[in-house]
Amino acid sequence: MAPRLTMTDTELKHLLAERIATVRHRIAAACARVGRDPATVTLIAVTKTVSVRVATLAWELSVWDLGENRPQELWKKAAAIPGANWHLIGHLQRNKLDRTVPLVTRIHSVDSLRLLAALDAFGQKRGSPVPVLIEVNCSGEATKGGFAPAEVPSVFDAARSLAGVTIHGLMTMAAYDPDPQATRPTFAKLRELRDAMRTYTGWPLAELSMGMSNDFEVAVEEGATFVRIGTTLFENLGSE
Ligand SMILES: *Cc1c(COP(=O)(O)O)cnc(C)c1O
Repeated sequence: MAPRLTMTDTELKHLLAERIATVRHRIAAACARVGRDPATVTLIAVTKTVSVRVATLAWELSVWDLGENRPQELWKKAAAIPGANWHLIGHLQRNKLDRTVPLVTRIHSVDSLRLLAALDAFGQKRGSPVPVLIEVNCSGEATKGGFAPAEVPSVFDAARSLAGVTIHGLMTMAAYDPDPQATRPTFAKLRELRDAMRTYTGWPLAELSMGMSNDFEVAVEEGATFVRIGTTLFENLGSE
């Protein structure tokens, strides 16, 4: 049998370091184009396709924020890398809430009033509000989760009376397009909706979670404060 061609930790780390540097450079260049400070954009490395080993290397290379879209996978990796700031970026079933919330710095994917109410109950019980973002389906694709933009004011109406959650901003996913510029209206729409809700509530709503491998530079130009990047960092490292 042929020997397995597995990269050593050193080789892997070198490759990942290069990819991270490239992504950070691209974020900084996008910031420069619109006069933003790169320190206002947090890179979340989305580790859903890679092993604990590769996720750990990313964290050792100073990517302090890691994201997972499935609670069970987040539990596993957060146990191995407890020092990271963990972000849940996918659907949260209410029966997984108790185990997930204590592990994360943000839930990006609040996509129903029932989930918001359950998070509120959790936050009230533990005595500190759960930090969340409201997921909005700006692209109108049926396959994507989140509230329709027109529903968002009613989410904030409901949230006014909830002491157990703090809404820090909005999250969206653009429809994939080979031309990243085509995603711009989606991101602009999320920013405009955030600005409108800021006026409506008087809350800071500082965060816009938007931009993935294909479109993060456009998202940064449109005001993203969290970019969620998987493929560009981890492509072909899944089996490592
Ligand atoms: C997988 C995932 C990402 C990362 O996508 P890439 O295109 O691989 O960068 C970002 N956000 C969410 C919600 C995801 O599920």
